[in-house]
Amino acid sequence: MPGGQYQVASARLHHSLYSLTDSSDAGPEDEETDNLTPLEKLTRDMCKDEQTIKELIIGRRIGFYKVRGEIGYGTFSRVKLAFHALTRDKVALKILDRTRLDAEAQRLLSREISSMEALHHPNVIRLYEVVETPRRLHLVLEYAGGGDLHSRICNEGKLSDNASKITFAQILSAIKYMHSINIIHRDLKAENVLFTIDGCVKVADFGFSTQVSNRNNALDTFCGSPPYAAPELFRDESYLGPPVDVWAMGVLLFFMVTGTMPFRAETMGKLRRCVIEGNYTIPPWVPGPCQRLIKGILRLVPSERYAIDQMLGCDWLLPVEFSWSFLPSDSMTTLQSLMVSENASLEEEVEEVRSSLEKLGFTGEHLQNNQLKDSRSPVTGVYRILLHHTQKKKGCDSPPVVRGMVRDPKREGLRAYRGLRHTSKFCVLS
Ligand code: ATP
Ligand code: MG
Repeated sequence: MPGGQYQVASARLHHSLYSLTDSSDAGPEDEETDNLTPLEKLTRDMCKDEQTIKELIIGRRIGFYKVRGEIGYGTFSRVKLAFHALTRDKVALKILDRTRLDAEAQRLLSREISSMEALHHPNVIRLYEVVETPRRLHLVLEYAGGGDLHSRICNEGKLSDNASKITFAQILSAIKYMHSINIIHRDLKAENVLFTIDGCVKVADFGFSTQVSNRNNALDTFCGSPPYAAPELFRDESYLGPPVDVWAMGVLLFFMVTGTMPFRAETMGKLRRCVIEGNYTIPPWVPGPCQRLIKGILRLVPSERYAIDQMLGCDWLLPVEFSWSFLPSDSMTTLQSLMVSENASLEEEVEEVRSSLEKLGFTGEHLQNNQLKDSRSPVTGVYRILLHHTQKKKGCDSPPVVRGMVRDPKREGLRAYRGLRHTSKFCVLS
């Protein structure tokens, strides 16, 4: 019964937020509010202010976030825009109904969370916090305000050659990094490639991702969207992770440069045949170096398919210049480099964030207790948001450029792709 759930929600909230502040459980009702820190004021409002409590009950506030309108939806979720009540940063709230999650869906969700916790890359959406209520689970994500690649191509037609290069290079950088820490995405599609307002690419939706102990481990679950699925997924009982992501990138690249999908059919059976036979045609006006790249990727035999490094070194991407933070590196993951204490720049950033946290009212004790690693803590949420904010100010999210790039004088949107959004599926191969 909803009433019962609200009661549970407010009791839990009361408890967890009280434990955040040192003074709130001791303070008298008529305590002077002028001296309160922003954190104390917020936690007090969440427990005592009628309007704030009402917003929490009706879902206009979730934890420390003020919820606004819907910005997207997926097979398993609704995504809403929200603001952090203390930092005012925009975030995306991916909301999942816990009552509709069966055991399998819960397993996928915990993988989504653990993959995102492990990933720190400028081209991967960051996870700031996880907020649970009795009915729902909220993933608090970095907000990508520039829409998704699927909508962009549907509305404006294919991307120009330079825009394709810049977009594809960033996807490649993200996937190279993911594979280097043994995470396989398994649901790469245009709907899951997002843009920030500044045109930076952000790979999203790790709902089907998996972390393997070894990249050569065979997997056996059909994941993703059929038009992006590699032939071995339709054909075999098991498959290797990295070549499946590589194939999906080939489909993405084809979609970006032509505005159409390489494999199309009215029925699943026909689509399957099309993919298994590698039956696709690249329009002749696609530049030669790009055609060669597509053909290198969309090879039927997984072991013959281009490896990520071959793709990065291809002629078509030669003019792309990455900024320092995008450089795909094998030697050290971004996460590891973030953790190295000698990293002077990070230390500086962390210091800046600590001082902002103090101004908001977080004490050394809050930070120590939390250790800033627990995604289910609001302290971690605000810490990660502030850290990202500081890193963005230093240019960590600026997209690469194409050397000698000139803007296309006329828009090339030949033919907009009017297809339906692609639905992702999950089933064990048999
Ligand atoms: P599906 O499995 O159908 O792809 P899903 O339920 O796993 O979907 P997501 O793909 O993560 O959900 O999100 C659905 C849509 O919401 C995205 O296609 C995008 O339009 C929007 N969206 C998701 N995350 C963000 C974000 N961080 N910033 C902005 N928009 C987002
Ligand atoms: Mg999605």
